Amino acid sequence: MMKYAKVVIDAVLNAGAIPAQDAAWDYLIPSDLAVMRGSCVIVPFGKREIDGFVIAVSDKSDVAPELLKPIHGLATDLVIKPELLDLMPQICDRFKLRPIDVLKLYLPSIIRTGKPKRNGKRRVPVSMALTDQQVVLNAEQQHCVDAVMAQPDNVYLLKGVTGSGKTEVYMHIIKKVLEAGKTALVLVPEIGLTPQVLANFKARFGNVVAMVHSKLGGGEKYDEWLRADQGEARIVIGARSAVFVPLQNLGAIIIDEEHDGSYQSDSNPRYLTHDIAIMRAQWHHCPVVLGSATPSVQSFYLAQQGEYKLLELTKRVNNVPLPKIELVDMGHEIRSGNGGIFGTEVLADLITTLRVGHSAMIFLNRRGYSQTVRCLQCGWSAKCENCDVSMVYHKDDEQLKCHYCAARMPFPSRCPHCGSTYIKHGAMGTQKICAELEKMLKQAALNVPVLRMDTDNTQTKGALVKILDEFAKTAPSVLVGTQMIAKGHHFPQVSLVIIVNADGGFVADYRSAERTFALLTQVAGRAGRAVGTTGKVYLQTYMPNHYVYKFIQNYDYLGFYQREITERQTTKYPPFTTIVRVLVSGTVDTKIINVIKEIMRPLRDYDKEYQNFIYLGAMKCPYGRLQNKYRYQILARIKQTVADETINYMHKCVKVVEELPMAHSVKIFFEINPASLS
Ligand code: ADP
Ligand code: ZN
Ligand code: ZN
Repeated sequence: MMKYAKVVIDAVLNAGAIPAQDAAWDYLIPSDLAVMRGSCVIVPFGKREIDGFVIAVSDKSDVAPELLKPIHGLATDLVIKPELLDLMPQICDRFKLRPIDVLKLYLPSIIRTGKPKRNGKRRVPVSMALTDQQVVLNAEQQHCVDAVMAQPDNVYLLKGVTGSGKTEVYMHIIKKVLEAGKTALVLVPEIGLTPQVLANFKARFGNVVAMVHSKLGGGEKYDEWLRADQGEARIVIGARSAVFVPLQNLGAIIIDEEHDGSYQSDSNPRYLTHDIAIMRAQWHHCPVVLGSATPSVQSFYLAQQGEYKLLELTKRVNNVPLPKIELVDMGHEIRSGNGGIFGTEVLADLITTLRVGHSAMIFLNRRGYSQTVRCLQCGWSAKCENCDVSMVYHKDDEQLKCHYCAARMPFPSRCPHCGSTYIKHGAMGTQKICAELEKMLKQAALNVPVLRMDTDNTQTKGALVKILDEFAKTAPSVLVGTQMIAKGHHFPQVSLVIIVNADGGFVADYRSAERTFALLTQVAGRAGRAVGTTGKVYLQTYMPNHYVYKFIQNYDYLGFYQREITERQTTKYPPFTTIVRVLVSGTVDTKIINVIKEIMRPLRDYDKEYQNFIYLGAMKCPYGRLQNKYRYQILARIKQTVADETINYMHKCVKVVEELPMAHSVKIFFEINPASLS
C-alpha cells in the first residue's frame, strides 16, 4: 500500500507567497526508503532539493497521488523522538515559533550544514564509576533528595546559599535516577560549564556522562548527541540548547543557577529553557530541580504561589561561615584623597591576604582596558561606525574594538579629529586592573602572579582550563575577571573577594536590582569556602545606601524578594504583567518605521476596545543601530489575566504584516518577556 508523509520543509520563501514554513506538505514515501515519523528527509521543492522533517506518516493523502512527489532520501539516520514531536505544537504556541524553527532545535546544527561525521574518537567501554566518593549528605541535603524522590512529578526550587552543597544534592538525585534505569539532564549557564564541573561529574559517574556546549566542534557535538540518542550516555550536562538533547526515559532535569540570564535565548529562535524543561518533565513524569542561591523573582514568586515546591539549604557545608561583606564608600575615598582603583583599607587587606599565602579574586564586569577614549581638546570620542556604541580600548593589541560587531581600529596616539595628544581614558576594564595591580604589588615587594579571565582571553580551546588550573595550583595568586569568575568555582584558598565597581549593573531595566543582587551574591560566595577560614568581601560602591547592598550584605534574600515583588506589583511589571517586544530591524529606517506603524494600527484599536495593555508604545531601541542595522521596537505591557489572548492577537498582527511585501527587507522578532530590552 502507498504511504504518505507530512513534511515540514526548511525553506525561506518570499513573504507574500504561501507561508511555506508553517505548513506541512504531503510527499510519497518510496517503498525502498525507511521513512518514519521524525525522519529528516531530502525532498524536491519546486526546482530545488531541500531538507524537511516528517511529522506524520499515513495511508492516505488529501492530495491526488499524481500531484505528489516522492521523498528523495534521508538527510541523517537520526530520528526525532516521539516525545519531542509531541511537544512541538506546545513549544510553538508558547513562544510563537514556527514548527521548522523548533524542529531544527531538535538536531545538532551540523546535520543541516554538511554531512555529519562521527568524530571517530576511540570509545572506551561504557561503565559507571558509582557515589567511590563517600560524601555523606547532611540532614538538609538528605531531606531535599528524599523530597524530590518521594514526589517526582513536581517542579522543585532548591534555594541554597553559596557553598551549601547543591551540586551534591543533584548528584545524589541523579544516582537514584540512574539506579532506576533512567537518565538525567543537567543544565548550567554557558559560562558556568567549566572543566571543573565536568570533571566532577565524570569522576562520580564515569563515561556515561556526555556534554554539550557551544565550544564543541560540529563533529564533537554530533557525537555527544548520538551518544544520548542511542542510550550510550545517560547523563547529559550542557548549556541552554542541551535542553533539547534526545535523552530517553528521563528521570530528572536539573537547572543549576536557574536565575541566570543565559537560560533565555536572545537570538532566534527565542525560548526560555525552564518552560521547555518543564514540558519535557511533564511528558516523562519526572522532577525538575531549579537550583540557585538567589532564585529569580519569577521562580520564587511561583514557589510562593505553590506552583513550585520550595526546598532550602540554609547553611554552608561543614558550617563554614558565609564571608563577611563590607561596603566601601568610594565617594568618601575620593573626598579623602584616594583616587585609586581600591579603597585604602581594601588595598591594605589585599596585601596582607597575599602575604599570609591566601589568594584573592577581583571582579569587574567590564572587559578591555578602558570603556571609552575621548579627546580633551575637541571632545571627539571613539564611536563604532556600525553601531550606536563607544569603542573599547584593548591594550593587548593596541586596538579600539566594538563589542557588538567586528569593527576594529588602531588606538590613535593623536586625536584623529584635531591632532591633540590629550586623549583621556574612560571607565576601566579588567586589563587596566591587571596592569595597575601588577604595579601596586611590585611596590609592596610582593611577587604574586596576577591572572585574568574574561571572554577576550578564553576564546581558544583549552585557554580557560589553563587559567583555572594555574590559579588553583598557585597560592597566593590573584584572579581578575568578569562574571566568568563568579560561576560555580570552588577554590578553597580564596579568602578575599573584591568587587571593584558594584554599581556597574544598574541600567534602565526593571530587573537591574535583581541581577545585581544575584551576581554580587554569587561573586561574594567565592570567598572563604574552606573549613577553618573566614572569607571577606569588599563591595566598592558610590551608592553605599542603596537598598540592594544592604540585602546583599545581610544575605537577606527574603527581604530583597519582598521589596522587589511589592515594587513590581505597584509598578505593574512581571510577574504581574507580561512584556511583549516586537523588534524590527533593517538597513533602511523609513521601511522599519512603516512596518512598525502597520503593526501598531490594529493594536491601538484593540487597546481602545479592550484596554488589555498597561502600556503600549513604539520607539527607537536604546541601541538604535547595531551592526549597521537600525532597530525600532513596539513595547507592550499586558495585564496578566488577559496575557494569553493578547499575546495571540499581537502575534497575529505581526504575522499579517510579515506576509506583506513591505516587510521583505526587514527582520521582525517577537519576544515574550525578553531577556534584554536594549
Ligand atoms: P554550591 O553548589 O551550593 O555552591 P557545592 O556543591 O559546590 O556548593 O559544595 C561546596 C563543597 O562542599 C564542594 O567541594 C562539595 O564537594 C562539598 N560538599 C558538599 N556536600 C558535602 C557533604 N555533605 N559533606 C562534605 N562535603 C560536602
Ligand atoms: Zn580632538
Ligand atoms: Zn559595532
